[in-house]
Amino acid sequence: MGTARLKIDLGALAANWRALDALSGPGTETGAVVKADGYGLGIDRVAKALARAGARSFFVAQAEEAAELRHAVGRGPTIHVFSGHMAGDTEMIRELNLVPLLNSIEQLTRHFEALPVHPFGVQLDTGMNRLGLEPSEWRAAREIVLSQKPKLVMSHLACADDPDDAMNERQLAQFLEMTEGLSVPRSLSATGGTLLGSDYHFDMTRPGIGLYGGLPFADARPVVQLSAPVIQLRDVDPGESIGYGAAFVAEVSMRIATVQAGYADGLIRAMGEDAILFAGDVPCPLAGRVSMDMLTVDVTHLDEVPPHLDILSHEQGVDDLANAAGTIGYEILTSLGRRYRRTYV
Ligand SMILES: *Cc1c(COP(=O)(O)O)cnc(C)c1O
Repeated sequence: MGTARLKIDLGALAANWRALDALSGPGTETGAVVKADGYGLGIDRVAKALARAGARSFFVAQAEEAAELRHAVGRGPTIHVFSGHMAGDTEMIRELNLVPLLNSIEQLTRHFEALPVHPFGVQLDTGMNRLGLEPSEWRAAREIVLSQKPKLVMSHLACADDPDDAMNERQLAQFLEMTEGLSVPRSLSATGGTLLGSDYHFDMTRPGIGLYGGLPFADARPVVQLSAPVIQLRDVDPGESIGYGAAFVAEVSMRIATVQAGYADGLIRAMGEDAILFAGDVPCPLAGRVSMDMLTVDVTHLDEVPPHLDILSHEQGVDDLANAAGTIGYEILTSLGRRYRRTYV
Protein backbone atom coordinates (compact mmCIF):
# COMPACT_ATOMS: atom_id res chain seq x y z
CA MET A 1 0.00 0.00 0.00
CA GLY A 2 1.45 3.33 -1.06
CA THR A 3 -0.20 5.44 1.60
CA ALA A 4 1.44 6.86 4.68
CA ARG A 5 -0.10 5.84 7.97
CA LEU A 6 -1.24 8.30 10.60
CA LYS A 7 -1.96 6.72 13.94
CA ILE A 8 -3.97 8.80 16.42
CA ASP A 9 -3.86 7.67 20.02
CA LEU A 10 -7.22 8.61 21.56
CA GLY A 11 -6.12 7.13 24.89
CA ALA A 12 -3.22 9.59 25.02
CA LEU A 13 -5.60 12.42 24.05
CA ALA A 14 -7.93 11.52 26.93
CA ALA A 15 -4.96 11.22 29.30
CA ASN A 16 -3.78 14.69 28.28
CA TRP A 17 -7.22 16.15 28.97
CA ARG A 18 -7.28 14.50 32.40
CA ALA A 19 -3.74 15.70 33.16
CA LEU A 20 -4.64 19.30 32.27
CA ASP A 21 -7.89 18.96 34.22
CA ALA A 22 -5.91 17.81 37.26
CA LEU A 23 -3.88 21.04 37.21
CA SER A 24 -6.90 23.10 38.23
CA GLY A 25 -9.05 22.77 41.31
CA PRO A 26 -12.57 21.35 41.54
CA GLY A 27 -14.06 24.83 41.06
CA THR A 28 -12.59 25.06 37.56
CA GLU A 29 -14.16 23.25 34.65
CA THR A 30 -11.76 22.04 31.95
CA GLY A 31 -13.12 22.61 28.45
CA ALA A 32 -11.72 21.30 25.20
CA VAL A 33 -10.85 23.28 22.07
CA VAL A 34 -11.56 21.22 18.95
CA LYS A 35 -11.44 23.91 16.25
CA ALA A 36 -9.84 23.23 12.86
CA ASP A 37 -11.17 19.66 12.78
CA GLY A 38 -9.78 18.84 16.20
CA TYR A 39 -6.38 20.36 15.35
CA GLY A 40 -6.33 18.27 12.19
CA LEU A 41 -6.94 14.95 13.90
CA GLY A 42 -10.67 14.56 13.14
CA ILE A 43 -13.25 16.42 15.21
CA ASP A 44 -15.68 13.50 15.39
CA ARG A 45 -13.31 10.96 16.94
CA VAL A 46 -11.45 13.53 19.01
CA ALA A 47 -14.61 15.04 20.52
CA LYS A 48 -16.12 11.65 21.31
CA ALA A 49 -12.94 10.61 23.12
CA LEU A 50 -12.80 13.89 25.05
CA ALA A 51 -16.48 13.60 26.00
CA ARG A 52 -15.82 10.07 27.28
CA ALA A 53 -12.92 11.45 29.33
CA GLY A 54 -15.30 13.94 30.93
CA ALA A 55 -15.23 17.12 28.83
CA ARG A 56 -18.60 18.91 28.88
CA SER A 57 -17.69 22.22 27.23
CA PHE A 58 -16.27 22.42 23.74
CA PHE A 59 -14.96 25.35 21.72
CA VAL A 60 -14.80 25.80 17.94
CA ALA A 61 -13.62 28.75 15.86
CA GLN A 62 -16.66 29.12 13.63
CA ALA A 63 -20.27 28.00 13.72
CA GLU A 64 -19.91 25.71 10.70
CA GLU A 65 -17.47 23.56 12.66
CA ALA A 66 -20.15 22.84 15.23
CA ALA A 67 -22.40 20.73 13.01
CA GLU A 68 -20.15 17.68 13.03
CA LEU A 69 -19.29 18.33 16.66
CA ARG A 70 -22.91 18.43 17.76
CA HIS A 71 -23.55 15.21 15.90
CA ALA A 72 -20.52 13.61 17.62
CA VAL A 73 -21.24 14.64 21.20
CA GLY A 74 -25.03 14.78 21.23
CA ARG A 75 -27.26 17.38 22.85
CA GLY A 76 -25.73 17.53 26.34
CA PRO A 77 -22.37 19.27 26.03
CA THR A 78 -22.06 23.03 25.56
CA ILE A 79 -20.49 24.20 22.29
CA HIS A 80 -18.94 27.69 22.26
CA VAL A 81 -18.02 29.59 19.10
CA PHE A 82 -14.98 31.90 19.24
CA SER A 83 -15.98 33.96 16.21
CA GLY A 84 -19.21 34.85 17.99
CA HIS A 85 -22.46 35.60 16.18
CA MET A 86 -21.61 36.40 12.58
CA ALA A 87 -24.19 37.61 10.08
CA GLY A 88 -25.83 34.52 8.63
CA ASP A 89 -25.10 32.33 11.68
CA THR A 90 -28.39 32.81 13.49
CA GLU A 91 -30.07 29.62 12.24
CA MET A 92 -27.01 27.49 13.02
CA ILE A 93 -26.68 28.98 16.48
CA ARG A 94 -30.32 28.23 17.22
CA GLU A 95 -30.57 24.81 15.62
CA LEU A 96 -27.28 23.45 16.93
CA ASN A 97 -27.77 25.20 20.27
CA LEU A 98 -24.41 27.00 20.20
CA VAL A 99 -23.07 29.58 22.63
CA PRO A 100 -21.56 32.39 20.54
CA LEU A 101 -18.79 34.28 22.31
CA LEU A 102 -19.77 37.80 21.25
CA ASN A 103 -16.83 40.04 20.54
CA SER A 104 -18.12 43.48 19.51
CA ILE A 105 -20.96 45.91 20.06
CA GLU A 106 -22.17 44.98 16.58
CA GLN A 107 -22.35 41.29 17.53
CA LEU A 108 -24.08 42.03 20.83
CA THR A 109 -26.72 44.00 18.97
CA ARG A 110 -27.13 41.29 16.36
CA HIS A 111 -27.48 38.57 18.96
CA PHE A 112 -29.93 40.39 21.21
CA GLU A 113 -32.10 41.29 18.23
CA ALA A 114 -32.01 37.91 16.49
CA LEU A 115 -32.01 35.52 19.46
CA PRO A 116 -33.01 37.52 22.53
CA VAL A 117 -33.13 34.67 25.06
CA HIS A 118 -30.50 32.42 23.55
CA PRO A 119 -27.35 31.71 25.67
CA PHE A 120 -24.20 33.66 24.81
CA GLY A 121 -20.81 34.59 26.20
CA VAL A 122 -18.72 37.74 25.88
CA GLN A 123 -15.11 38.20 24.86
CA LEU A 124 -13.05 40.98 26.37
CA ASP A 125 -9.83 42.30 24.95
CA THR A 126 -7.15 42.44 27.63
CA GLY A 127 -4.27 43.34 25.35
CA MET A 128 -4.03 40.90 22.48
CA ASN A 129 -6.02 43.18 20.16
CA ARG A 130 -7.51 40.35 18.18
CA LEU A 131 -11.04 39.70 19.44
CA GLY A 132 -13.23 41.15 22.12
CA LEU A 133 -14.60 44.35 23.60
CA GLU A 134 -12.08 47.02 24.54
CA PRO A 135 -12.24 48.25 28.15
CA SER A 136 -14.12 51.41 27.09
CA GLU A 137 -16.66 49.43 25.06
CA TRP A 138 -17.14 47.06 27.95
CA ARG A 139 -17.76 49.96 30.34
CA ALA A 140 -20.43 51.28 28.00
CA ALA A 141 -22.15 47.95 27.30
CA ARG A 142 -21.59 46.17 30.58
CA GLU A 143 -24.91 46.82 32.32
CA ILE A 144 -26.98 45.85 29.30
CA VAL A 145 -24.90 42.73 28.70
CA LEU A 146 -25.10 41.63 32.33
CA SER A 147 -28.86 42.09 32.35
CA GLN A 148 -29.01 39.48 29.58
CA LYS A 149 -27.14 36.97 31.80
CA PRO A 150 -24.07 35.87 29.81
CA LYS A 151 -22.94 32.27 30.36
CA LEU A 152 -19.24 33.11 30.18
CA VAL A 153 -16.95 36.11 30.12
CA MET A 154 -13.60 35.33 28.56
CA SER A 155 -10.36 36.74 27.29
CA HIS A 156 -7.25 35.26 25.67
CA LEU A 157 -3.56 35.51 26.56
CA ALA A 158 -1.06 36.51 23.90
CA CYS A 159 2.16 35.20 25.50
CA ALA A 160 1.12 32.35 27.80
CA ASP A 161 3.55 29.90 26.17
CA ASP A 162 6.30 31.86 27.95
CA PRO A 163 5.69 31.88 31.72
CA ASP A 164 8.26 34.66 32.19
CA ASP A 165 6.62 37.08 29.79
CA ALA A 166 5.39 40.14 31.70
CA MET A 167 2.41 40.37 29.34
CA ASN A 168 0.76 37.48 31.23
CA GLU A 169 0.47 39.43 34.46
CA ARG A 170 -0.60 42.59 32.67
CA GLN A 171 -3.43 40.73 30.94
CA LEU A 172 -4.40 38.99 34.17
CA ALA A 173 -4.62 42.34 35.96
CA GLN A 174 -6.67 43.81 33.11
CA PHE A 175 -9.02 40.81 33.13
CA LEU A 176 -9.48 41.07 36.90
CA GLU A 177 -10.20 44.76 36.62
CA MET A 178 -12.77 44.24 33.86
CA THR A 179 -14.55 41.34 35.58
CA GLU A 180 -14.27 42.19 39.27
CA GLY A 181 -17.41 41.52 41.26
CA LEU A 182 -19.29 39.84 38.40
CA SER A 183 -21.31 36.76 39.15
CA VAL A 184 -20.64 35.35 35.69
CA PRO A 185 -18.30 32.38 35.05
CA ARG A 186 -14.92 33.57 33.77
CA SER A 187 -12.30 32.03 31.48
CA LEU A 188 -8.86 33.36 30.59
CA SER A 189 -6.59 30.46 29.79
CA ALA A 190 -5.80 28.11 26.94
CA THR A 191 -3.09 25.45 27.40
CA GLY A 192 -0.35 27.94 28.21
CA GLY A 193 -2.37 29.82 30.82
CA THR A 194 -3.53 26.57 32.41
CA LEU A 195 0.14 25.83 33.08
CA LEU A 196 0.70 29.28 34.66
CA GLY A 197 -1.06 28.31 37.87
CA SER A 198 -4.29 28.79 39.73
CA ASP A 199 -4.42 32.60 39.38
CA TYR A 200 -5.10 32.01 35.70
CA HIS A 201 -7.73 29.26 35.97
CA PHE A 202 -10.95 31.08 36.97
CA ASP A 203 -14.10 29.01 36.29
CA MET A 204 -13.15 27.43 32.97
CA THR A 205 -9.93 26.59 31.13
CA ARG A 206 -9.83 26.14 27.36
CA PRO A 207 -6.90 23.89 26.44
CA GLY A 208 -6.31 22.94 22.82
CA ILE A 209 -2.77 22.11 21.76
CA GLY A 210 -1.86 20.36 25.02
CA LEU A 211 -4.63 17.82 24.44
CA TYR A 212 -3.03 16.91 21.13
CA GLY A 213 0.44 16.44 22.58
CA GLY A 214 1.99 19.82 21.70
CA LEU A 215 4.01 22.46 23.54
CA PRO A 216 3.75 24.33 25.80
CA PHE A 217 2.41 21.23 27.61
CA ALA A 218 5.81 19.55 27.89
CA ASP A 219 4.41 16.61 29.89
CA ALA A 220 1.83 15.76 27.24
CA ARG A 221 1.67 12.24 25.92
CA PRO A 222 2.28 12.17 22.16
CA VAL A 223 -0.96 11.62 20.26
CA VAL A 224 0.15 11.21 16.64
CA GLN A 225 2.47 8.80 14.90
CA LEU A 226 3.21 9.06 11.21
CA SER A 227 5.10 6.62 9.06
CA ALA A 228 5.46 6.54 5.30
CA PRO A 229 6.20 3.65 2.97
CA VAL A 230 9.45 3.31 1.05
CA ILE A 231 8.41 3.02 -2.58
CA GLN A 232 11.84 2.75 -4.19
CA LEU A 233 15.48 2.28 -3.22
CA ARG A 234 18.42 3.32 -5.38
CA ASP A 235 22.16 3.72 -5.25
CA VAL A 236 23.54 7.12 -6.21
CA ASP A 237 27.13 7.74 -7.30
CA PRO A 238 29.26 10.66 -6.14
CA GLY A 239 28.45 13.75 -8.20
CA GLU A 240 24.86 12.72 -8.96
CA SER A 241 22.05 14.98 -7.80
CA ILE A 242 18.82 14.07 -6.06
CA GLY A 243 15.41 15.67 -6.48
CA TYR A 244 14.05 18.98 -7.77
CA GLY A 245 16.43 21.75 -8.62
CA ALA A 246 19.25 19.21 -8.37
CA ALA A 247 19.66 20.96 -5.05
CA PHE A 248 21.34 18.03 -3.33
CA VAL A 249 24.51 16.55 -4.80
CA ALA A 250 25.94 13.32 -3.41
CA GLU A 251 29.55 13.67 -2.32
CA VAL A 252 29.97 9.95 -1.74
CA SER A 253 28.13 6.82 -2.87
CA MET A 254 24.70 6.89 -1.25
CA ARG A 255 21.65 4.72 -0.86
CA ILE A 256 18.47 6.75 -1.23
CA ALA A 257 14.96 5.70 -0.20
CA THR A 258 12.06 7.40 -1.94
CA VAL A 259 9.25 7.72 0.58
CA GLN A 260 5.58 8.39 -0.16
CA ALA A 261 4.57 11.61 1.64
CA GLY A 262 5.23 15.20 0.72
CA TYR A 263 4.13 18.77 1.07
CA ALA A 264 0.63 17.94 -0.17
CA ASP A 265 0.37 15.80 2.96
CA GLY A 266 1.38 18.66 5.22
CA LEU A 267 5.12 17.96 5.30
CA ILE A 268 5.78 21.53 4.45
CA ARG A 269 8.50 22.22 1.97
CA ALA A 270 10.15 24.70 4.34
CA MET A 271 11.40 21.84 6.50
CA GLY A 272 13.99 21.34 3.77
CA GLU A 273 17.01 19.32 4.66
CA ASP A 274 16.72 19.88 8.40
CA ALA A 275 14.05 17.22 8.67
CA ILE A 276 14.88 13.69 9.67
CA LEU A 277 13.03 10.43 9.25
CA PHE A 278 13.66 7.45 11.49
CA ALA A 279 14.17 3.75 10.98
CA GLY A 280 13.22 2.76 14.51
CA ASP A 281 15.64 4.87 16.54
CA VAL A 282 18.15 5.44 13.71
CA PRO A 283 17.95 8.90 12.14
CA CYS A 284 17.83 9.12 8.34
CA PRO A 285 18.18 12.68 7.01
CA LEU A 286 16.38 14.05 3.98
CA ALA A 287 18.48 14.32 0.85
CA GLY A 288 17.03 16.85 -1.57
CA ARG A 289 13.91 18.96 -1.59
CA VAL A 290 10.49 17.96 -0.33
CA SER A 291 8.26 17.13 -3.32
CA MET A 292 4.48 17.21 -3.43
CA ASP A 293 4.11 13.47 -2.81
CA MET A 294 7.58 12.22 -1.99
CA LEU A 295 10.65 12.60 0.16
CA THR A 296 14.12 11.33 -0.68
CA VAL A 297 15.95 10.04 2.34
CA ASP A 298 19.55 9.01 3.01
CA VAL A 299 19.55 5.38 4.18
CA THR A 300 23.19 4.64 3.29
CA HIS A 301 24.00 3.76 6.89
CA LEU A 302 21.19 1.21 7.35
CA ASP A 303 21.98 -2.51 7.08
CA GLU A 304 18.40 -3.15 6.16
CA VAL A 305 15.82 -0.60 5.03
CA PRO A 306 12.43 -1.15 6.70
CA PRO A 307 9.23 -0.99 4.59
CA HIS A 308 8.22 2.22 6.40
CA LEU A 309 10.18 5.15 7.80
CA ASP A 310 8.81 7.16 10.71
CA ILE A 311 8.20 10.88 10.45
CA LEU A 312 6.43 11.39 13.79
CA SER A 313 7.29 8.89 16.50
CA HIS A 314 8.76 8.71 19.99
CA GLU A 315 12.02 9.84 18.35
CA GLN A 316 10.55 12.98 16.80
CA GLY A 317 7.41 14.73 18.03
CA VAL A 318 5.30 17.41 16.37
CA ASP A 319 7.36 20.17 17.96
CA ASP A 320 10.66 18.63 16.80
CA LEU A 321 9.36 18.50 13.26
CA ALA A 322 8.01 22.02 13.64
CA ASN A 323 11.47 23.23 14.65
CA ALA A 324 12.97 21.71 11.52
CA ALA A 325 10.42 23.61 9.47
CA GLY A 326 10.71 26.90 11.36
CA THR A 327 7.12 26.70 12.56
CA ILE A 328 5.08 25.56 15.58
CA GLY A 329 3.44 22.26 16.49
CA TYR A 330 -0.01 23.75 15.88
CA GLU A 331 0.80 24.21 12.20
CA ILE A 332 2.26 20.72 11.79
CA LEU A 333 -0.89 19.18 13.27
CA THR A 334 -3.41 21.28 11.39
CA SER A 335 -1.54 20.68 8.12
CA LEU A 336 -1.63 16.88 8.37
CA GLY A 337 -2.93 15.70 5.06
CA ARG A 338 -6.24 14.17 4.08
CA ARG A 339 -4.45 11.45 2.13
CA TYR A 340 -3.07 9.58 5.11
CA ARG A 341 -4.59 6.28 6.13
CA ARG A 342 -5.79 7.24 9.56
CA THR A 343 -6.19 4.74 12.35
CA TYR A 344 -7.52 5.58 15.77
CA VAL A 345 -6.37 3.51 18.72
C1 LIG B 1 -7.21 28.30 19.93
C2 LIG B 1 -7.70 28.94 21.17
C3 LIG B 1 -7.58 28.27 22.40
C4 LIG B 1 -6.77 27.01 22.57
O1 LIG B 1 -5.42 27.38 22.55
P1 LIG B 1 -4.22 26.36 22.75
O2 LIG B 1 -3.01 27.21 22.78
O3 LIG B 1 -4.26 25.44 21.58
O4 LIG B 1 -4.45 25.62 24.03
C5 LIG B 1 -8.20 28.85 23.51
N1 LIG B 1 -8.84 30.04 23.41
C6 LIG B 1 -8.94 30.73 22.25
C7 LIG B 1 -9.65 32.03 22.21
C8 LIG B 1 -8.36 30.21 21.09
O5 LIG B 1 -8.44 30.89 19.94
